[in-house]
Amino acid sequence: MSEFAFELELCARLEGRREGIVARQLGGSVADPGGRILDVLCVEPGSEFDDRVELTSETIPDAAIESAVGTGRARYWKDAFDCHPERARNATEQALEIGFFERDREASATSNREYVRQVTRYPDWYDRIVGIENKPDLGRPGDLEMQLRTDVSLALLDEAILATESYVTRAHLNRIPDAVGVWRIHRDEGAAGEGLEIEVVREPTPLTPDEPGIEPLAAHPGRTEIEVVSPDAKARARRRLAERAYGKGWRTYGFPNCGACRPTDASGATLPYCAWNGRVVDANTECGPDCPGHEPGSAAEIAIDLEAERDRRTPWTADPDGKRRRQSGLDRFG
Ligand code: SF4
Repeated sequence: MSEFAFELELCARLEGRREGIVARQLGGSVADPGGRILDVLCVEPGSEFDDRVELTSETIPDAAIESAVGTGRARYWKDAFDCHPERARNATEQALEIGFFERDREASATSNREYVRQVTRYPDWYDRIVGIENKPDLGRPGDLEMQLRTDVSLALLDEAILATESYVTRAHLNRIPDAVGVWRIHRDEGAAGEGLEIEVVREPTPLTPDEPGIEPLAAHPGRTEIEVVSPDAKARARRRLAERAYGKGWRTYGFPNCGACRPTDASGATLPYCAWNGRVVDANTECGPDCPGHEPGSAAEIAIDLEAERDRRTPWTADPDGKRRRQSGLDRFG
């Protein structure tokens, strides 16, 4: 049973059935650094989702959104940030590159300093954020209970769900916090996601992202260090999470350089299916010349198409209007 294949096939299924953005493997802590990695996220669209799509295909740096660089009069970039200068500089450069900021050429030339402004107000683009923890085999739970307790007590998400292939017993349910929803996934590992079905064993109870949360920081024998997290800190962490999900998505896998890899889109998304293994494989950890089934060959160029596939199959747009306007502007001055 491969957790990797399970996760990709579930993402493909969710993408086909849910509005908004599906992403995987994103940090779900407020503490920095935090240890919680969320397996799958569904970010539901808010009222200004279309404005976000038009703005840029990339993650907008949080420091740029938080800065005092507004849409009106251009400001000297250094005066607009309340953070370490290096973080401010990186955020400014990144925001300029992706088109969230623009340079005011005249003000910059006059003062010999870089003056910037936001091209548009940051849109109110996301609504509920649902986190899904994948544990195909409940017989090997690892840190599952602790992870789900953290998600519930921190309540950064609107809903937390456990997805498994195991038969879910009453004993399993008793160990999982009551607020966590439970899905049993019915899939055929050899079918690369085709016909995957979700059986809802228990509906999730909505969490409370607008209220203070409790974040466990470190566990010691007999006690756990915790921190109370304010609703404001959670709101900022949710925005970071939504932005990372928007920029990253879930097609963050590669295809092995191996003739046994027969990419398949049976699930509606192109996945790295290995004919020798009879399942989807993780090229980073499972493939290479040492694998007994390895056949020298190349499927690497297929990875390039994943961005086009995301563009085609989801509301995310690789080359939005905002970017096109910037490029045609550059042409005029080029
Ligand atoms: S290297 Fe092995 S696991 Fe990877 S695609 Fe080839 S045969 Fe399959």
